[in-house]
Amino acid sequence: MTETVLGGVIDHHVHLGLVERDLLADSPVVEVHDLGWDPVAAQGFRANPPSGVDVHIVGPFHTAPGGYPTGRKWAPPSSVREIADAADAGVAVREAVTRMASGIKVTLHDDFANLSEEVLEVLVEEAHVDGLPVLVHAEGRGMVELALRVGADVLVHAPWTEPVPEGVLAASTQMTWISTLAIHAPSDQQVAIDNIVRFRALGGTVRYGTDMGNGPTPVGVNAEEIRALGRAGLHGEELIDAVTGGPPALSAPLPRPTNADELIRWLGAARRLPATIQEDE
Ligand SMILES: [Zn+2]
Repeated sequence: MTETVLGGVIDHHVHLGLVERDLLADSPVVEVHDLGWDPVAAQGFRANPPSGVDVHIVGPFHTAPGGYPTGRKWAPPSSVREIADAADAGVAVREAVTRMASGIKVTLHDDFANLSEEVLEVLVEEAHVDGLPVLVHAEGRGMVELALRVGADVLVHAPWTEPVPEGVLAASTQMTWISTLAIHAPSDQQVAIDNIVRFRALGGTVRYGTDMGNGPTPVGVNAEEIRALGRAGLHGEELIDAVTGGPPALSAPLPRPTNADELIRWLGAARRLPATIQEDE
């Protein structure tokens, strides 16, 4: 029987503060990126990760005073870092560097107060000086354009609130999109899938991310997310690259998967390789 190996699953968008973290221990998920929580608690997630899981953190949501997700019941007040002005943007980046954050999370939402373009530009510039990518939650009309104009690196959700205009889409291939398709209602999901199809046609890169903790998401591999990536046209090596990465971490007695259903089946049969094999990174 064919035995094939793949890197482990990397979930680029999770909220460990909202899930039973221990369920991830020794699962096919080998790396997670916590995209927004109380910064002290997040440092604890990284210091005491579930067994076999590499935890990356960004710390809090950066936003304008009163900006999203202020007041949402799932978001503790300490998970929001309000930025007062351009000088404070620099202070916020220093705080993130001190915590060894792997990026700066910023929220833009057209129903909430947003940081001015000037402050956003300073925030992005300061983050880039320290080698930190800026990851943006862009929700509502004009927010993807704003993220693009200020030089953000990642959209943490493939845009789902509206079709991205063609010119904006072409320019936005400089950003990576994290999928998070399975959290949406069917109509919103279809908008996001259509955007991804057009984004990929222009050369855009999409990464698997589930927004784990947002609603009743599975803690582990999210088959619905992989299936939705398949519906967005990802298959073969592009699909494998979007969902997995790093050194060989998983092995399954099945041929190399070529589409979403095969990848889901493959991950269902996968076992972890011993850490000694994984160490030749
Ligand atoms: Zn999220």
